[in-house]
Parts: sequence; structure tokens; C-alpha cells
Amino acid sequence: MDLSRILTFASALVNTGYVPLRSRCNVVIETSSICNLSCRFCPAGQAHRVLDRQNRFIPDAWFHRIIELTRGLAEEYILHNFGEAALNPKICDYMAGLPDCRFALSSNLNFSARTARQLAAAPNLTVACALDVLSPDLYARYRRGGRLETALDNLRILLAGTCRVRVILFQNGEKNMAREVYGSDFPEDTQLQARARAFAREYGIPEQDILMNRMNSYWQGMEINPAPHPGRVCDALYFGLYFNSDGYQVPCCENVGRDLYLRHIEDIRDPADLLNGPPVRAFRRGLHWNKHRYSSCRACPGNPYTLNRLRRLLGQAPPLPSRPLSDC
Ligand code: SF4
Repeated sequence: MDLSRILTFASALVNTGYVPLRSRCNVVIETSSICNLSCRFCPAGQAHRVLDRQNRFIPDAWFHRIIELTRGLAEEYILHNFGEAALNPKICDYMAGLPDCRFALSSNLNFSARTARQLAAAPNLTVACALDVLSPDLYARYRRGGRLETALDNLRILLAGTCRVRVILFQNGEKNMAREVYGSDFPEDTQLQARARAFAREYGIPEQDILMNRMNSYWQGMEINPAPHPGRVCDALYFGLYFNSDGYQVPCCENVGRDLYLRHIEDIRDPADLLNGPPVRAFRRGLHWNKHRYSSCRACPGNPYTLNRLRRLLGQAPPLPSRPLSDC
């Protein structure tokens, strides 16, 4: 850990609200909140339309202003949040103009082979390919409007290119969301992991690049909205910078409402103001102290990163479960 990370960690632990100016973090920019699919749990899907913002591609001026402000702060740029980033016609121009650092986006891969070839040629790009399920029947039920065949064709194109490819697949969620969506025929985790391994072998993908994600849903306004989560602490805003497609800085990558819109990018003066301006510090401290003061956080478990880390250092946290495939 470098010094700025140690200082950030210490600052979050005592909840000063500050992060060091030299700190580096992931910068998440929602380049598109438009999507071509209507997946069951996604708030951007056409069936739900519960994103508390416009469905649009981020305007050019706001994208470039975010880059200008975060140029010295970004460890990695993540160019998606909700919506399908590859639909943004400027996405390749944006990547070409980014500072020399890593960048990533997640994609449903339901687009033209031409778009896939453009992404495949990007050298510093990681594409997280959200396939989720591998059977055409389950895929059609979850990825409404998508075609597994198209996604797999585009996956092959990406694998032949210079970008790094990771594949996201589901395992059952802690509340067994998968069974609620798919019914009792959704496979057990052991079956899912065996299928994922066979898939990795077939496509020549290293096992560490297969991410077994849990299906859950605590986005506001979704069909299955679990009860308030008992967790109180969230440190997400100490460790990342997030911007939605309407140009607002938000504290995390969840579908937060306006109670957690920090500021608009046009109202941020400089990197110091972005990191440690009074509104940002107040939100950081409030979320660490008790996230339940914000209605957007009601059902979210939060991100108690520093407390978990401290418990682990003190040997009090339960050991991490060992999973044969990467967990994200
Ligand atoms: S508690 Fe959840 S919704 Fe609230 S800021 Fe943290 S990650 Fe975002």
C-alpha cells in the first residue's frame, strides 16, 4: 500500500471526511444510461426505467471536464455504470483521448461485429463481458431482448483482439434471487462453477478472468426490493469517484436518488474541490456515520471497507471463503 492509501484508510477510519490530494482511485463515468436490453434486475432496462436521471449518452463537454479534473487522480477509468457504454458512438474517441492509464467497461455484448472489432483493438482496455448465464433459455429469460449467440460471436472477436477480456457469470445470490427470477430450475452453484470452468477451457479464457457474480437487487423501484439492510457504514466515497450520465458526482455505483447527488460537474472548481470540497466531506462523513440517513441507501448493504479491513488485520473477521473461480 502506498502512503496516500494508508492516509486515506486512516482518514476513513476516524471519519475526517478528507482524502489526500495525491491519492489515486478508480474513476467511474457513466458514458451511457441508454441500453438496448431490458434485463430483469437492471434499473436502466426498458421494463423498469427507474434510473433517477435521463436516458442519454453523457454530453461531450461534461465527459471532457470530468477527465480534466481527474487526470492526476485516476488509477483506472471505468467507462460504464448503468446502460450499455458501447452504444455511445463516441466511446472509442473517448478511449483514444484518455490519459495513459488503464480503462475498463462492462458490456452485454449485444451489438454489431463492427463495434466489437473497435473495442477489440483498444490496447489498455478491459472489457467485462456480462454474459451472466450460459444456456440460451436462461439467457432469454434474464437478458430480455438479447441473444446469447450474438454475445458469444462478439466475445470471440474480443478474445482475438488486444483488449483484456473478463467474463461475468452468475452464481446464486445470498437471498437466492436467481431462483426467484428463473424458477427452481436455476442450477446449483457447484453446477454453475463446473459449467464456468468448461466454458473457460472452451474459449481459452484464464480461470481468474471468469468472475462469478452474485445476483442481488437493492436498486430502488425494482420488482424485488428487500427489506432495509441492517448495515450502517459506507466508505464508498472515500475510495472512488463516480459520475452519472447527467453530469452529477454521486457516492457509488448504485442507482442512488437525488438525496445523494453531490454536485454537478460544472459546479466543481478544481481537483482539490472535487476531492475535499465541503459538500463532499459532509457526504463522506454522513455515509460513514450512518448511511440510513439517506433513503437511497435503505436496502443497500453499504461498503464498510475500512472496518472490515481493520477486523481482518485484528484477526476478527471470518476467513474469506475460498472460491475456485474469481469472485467480484
Ligand atoms: S450504502 Fe450503498 S447506495 Fe449508499 S452510498 Fe453506500 S454503496 Fe451507495
